[in-house]
Amino acid sequence: MDLFEYQARDLFEAHNVPVLPAQIARTADEAQKAAEAIIGSSGGKVVVKAQVKVGGRGKAGGVKLADSAVDARAKADAILGMDIKGHRVGIVMIAAAAPIVEEYYLAILLDRSNRTFLVMASVAGGMDIEEVARTSPEKLAKVPVSATVGIDFAAAKKIITSAAFPKDIEDQVADVLVKLWQVFQSEDATLVEVNPLVKTSDGKIIALDGKVTLDENADFRHPDHEALVDHAAANALEAAAKEKGLNYVKLDGQVGIIGNGAGLVMSTLDVVAYAGEKYRGMKPANFLDIGGGASAEVMANGLAIILGDKDVKSVFVNVFGGITSCDAVANGIVQALAILGDKASKPIVVRLDGNNVSEGRRILKEANHPLIEQLDTMDGAADRAAELAAK
Ligand code: GDP
Ligand code: MN
Repeated sequence: MDLFEYQARDLFEAHNVPVLPAQIARTADEAQKAAEAIIGSSGGKVVVKAQVKVGGRGKAGGVKLADSAVDARAKADAILGMDIKGHRVGIVMIAAAAPIVEEYYLAILLDRSNRTFLVMASVAGGMDIEEVARTSPEKLAKVPVSATVGIDFAAAKKIITSAAFPKDIEDQVADVLVKLWQVFQSEDATLVEVNPLVKTSDGKIIALDGKVTLDENADFRHPDHEALVDHAAANALEAAAKEKGLNYVKLDGQVGIIGNGAGLVMSTLDVVAYAGEKYRGMKPANFLDIGGGASAEVMANGLAIILGDKDVKSVFVNVFGGITSCDAVANGIVQALAILGDKASKPIVVRLDGNNVSEGRRILKEANHPLIEQLDTMDGAADRAAELAAK
């Protein structure tokens, strides 16, 4: 789960990473009040920042300095409702503005391909770090970190020195890195990124913009993380699927897909997209893996989610019988349609193969359901499903 900047800021504060005072606002009114409170306690300017889970807000006009509470109100008014790379701004963060002298980059992340954690540090922070990595890779230090050893002050100092941070701030930055490691480890994050980490005119080091991704597999250890979920943004169908324990992702096509096993579903998406080229570019409408036990109930839940998607014009059920054999799956489909009744209203193309396939096909054939069409091959079924969707 990706966090909003203000949520990352709050986590940083809880772990003593230096941040500036800030509050969030959902209206221009609230923004003005927040700015008054911040200017009242720290004086000076504030910065109004769009809270969207996408980078490059600054360049898109979503980060603006304001020199008074009234000005903050006007800036918030302009930023709220703005569309930044497809994300509508519903929240702004009003933060004390920092007198920035230099901008750096610091991140800890899970490096999956090398099976380790990785610190990335650079004195060329602030802007696009991908650009720095591409054009001047020598300016981006990358240091692997062992999960069992972690980052103490000595290790942090070594990393910061290798990234050629100015001598006079080495200790301060190393101290921030140790605290960021504590955030990373104790919150079970897969990414903690600070860009920019700034030096202010009075020589302080402050995390000015934070990005945190939490590992949802560790949610059971963090009941407090539930409060960080952005329920408003979750797609309604995805939320319903999650509630039923289904592995569902909404896509923007027209052919609903149900399969068993992530690998089979992924290749089904490819085959349908390919077949769809012939039929006005029909595409998969979703990813849905019903897993090993394709019981009637799981099949009914899956079909209900897919048929509830108004973009879906046809459904392709692609199952390879393994431990759950094809006859059980066929019975599951028949019972699911009985459970759904009139809610099932779109053509369903089924391709069964694998364990006990002939019995499975016989059951479906005998059920003679008006919505079901059976095909023997994955390519043939994908083609038919795309054709039906285009009708
Ligand atoms: P991003 O564009 O989404 O990464 O948003 P950031 O929070 O990183 O802000 C982009 C840029 O705005 C930073 O690199 C800074 O140059 C500038 N900025 C952000 N906050 C402040 C601030 O408090 N004071 C000043 N002077 N500039 C700021
Ligand atoms: Mn940034």
